[in-house]
Amino acid sequence: MFETVIGLEIHIQLNTASKAFSADANDFHADPNSHAGPITLAHPGTLPVMNRTHLEKGLLLALALGCKINRHSHFDRKNYFYPDLPKGYQITQDKNPYCSGGKVRFISDKSIKSVRIHHIHMEEDAGKSIHDIHETRTMLDFNRAGVPLLELVTEPDFRSGQEVSDFLAELQKTVQYLGISDGNMEEGSFRCDCNVSVRRSGDEKLGERCEIKNLNSRRYAKNAIEYEAERQAELISAGGQVKRTTMLYDPDKNSTSPMRKKESENDYRYFPDPDLPPFTVTDEDISVTAGKLVLLPIDRYLLLTGKYGLSESDADILTEEKIFGDCFFHLAEKEGIYRELADLIVQKIIPYIKAEKLKFPSPDKWEQLARFSRLAASKEVSKSAVYQHAFPVWISDITADPYEIAARLDLIKSEDQDFLDPLITKVLGQYPEKVAEYRKGKKGLIGFFMGQVKNEAGGKADPKTLQEKLELALKS
Ligand code: ADP
Ligand code: MG
Repeated sequence: MFETVIGLEIHIQLNTASKAFSADANDFHADPNSHAGPITLAHPGTLPVMNRTHLEKGLLLALALGCKINRHSHFDRKNYFYPDLPKGYQITQDKNPYCSGGKVRFISDKSIKSVRIHHIHMEEDAGKSIHDIHETRTMLDFNRAGVPLLELVTEPDFRSGQEVSDFLAELQKTVQYLGISDGNMEEGSFRCDCNVSVRRSGDEKLGERCEIKNLNSRRYAKNAIEYEAERQAELISAGGQVKRTTMLYDPDKNSTSPMRKKESENDYRYFPDPDLPPFTVTDEDISVTAGKLVLLPIDRYLLLTGKYGLSESDADILTEEKIFGDCFFHLAEKEGIYRELADLIVQKIIPYIKAEKLKFPSPDKWEQLARFSRLAASKEVSKSAVYQHAFPVWISDITADPYEIAARLDLIKSEDQDFLDPLITKVLGQYPEKVAEYRKGKKGLIGFFMGQVKNEAGGKADPKTLQEKLELALKS
């Protein structure tokens, strides 16, 4: 009946050393107001100076997403009053942002989606108002005031909350891969406003929209969009009209409600900031930045599921953090044993470090991972026995030699598999009924017998030889 249409505005906090227009440190986790110098506090007579790293990180994202770089750009003032904004305006970019166009590709519902970018602009963050420390007062922390942000604005190309959630995951990983932001939504370094409208299926014209402010998790964004779309559809079905409103989402109630009018109806009176000269982006800026580009998470995903033949879920996990894939690709190129490496990294190492809250092994340890994979892949051992018995010992100190551990645990298969014969006789003797069933045609029981003999033999049994021997013994 109704189709949902969504466009996003995403604020990305950059991990520069200093703030966007002053030498104050960009570290808002520090003691409140410990990085709030005269420029941040807007003392009269102070002048902002552009931080080139802000632009460099912005260019990196722009090039990664195929945006068109605007060679001549400038900053504007966005005027409004709020206690956490001491200047009375925010320095931002309005009609002349540093880049526009481009697209973000991501996987949603097992296929590749692509969303167009309207533009990305540079701006500064505001301070933080804290309402829950004091009973009657609001506390202000200006450490965040002036922290460099990029705001990425998409075209209204999303059709569901799930698409938005999948897109946010991709963009989050993208800024992490590029090393420009920690992309942490919970801590507010990656924030999202969602513009939501609905229209009757088949309609060309977009419906009137509402904007849901400051969603700080993917799940909240998805839930807020779904709730808001439902609300608008019901309103229209009942003969009402959607009015352009700024909304807030309450995760406890899982519902949206209008913000106070005073806060949402602003006339910002943008004008070029007279304190900051216009700036240019040179050919050299672009070629230096291009040299820092890396393969994006989606492209790694496609490579892993394509050339390397891994499953979608393995590829998902290997792209979660850049270092996971760095390690896999590095070793896969050298070793050629993709499947074993993926098994070790995805099924074993990553779950282990997550459970133990450890860091992924650093590159100087990767050769050790390769060594373990070679052991698991070798014919001298049973893979399952190696994972079951040798892995838990080895993982606590991966500098240890996995081959020695396997030998110590008696997991190296004997050349001579004759020791299996008495074990087979013993097991078949224990289960005469199952033997009879097998002989009557229930061939699936072979797995049961193999399991029993393996229990007796430990890791030394070679499954292929064991199966041959068992089949022979069961025939007679
Ligand atoms: P403004 O100038 O008021 O900020 P924009 O046209 O720049 O509005 O759009 C802001 C955001 O709203 C963009 O992400 C855009 O994709 C989205 N948007 C615009 N129109 C709609 C609509 N009808 N439904 C959903 N999202 C919309
Ligand atoms: Mg905006």
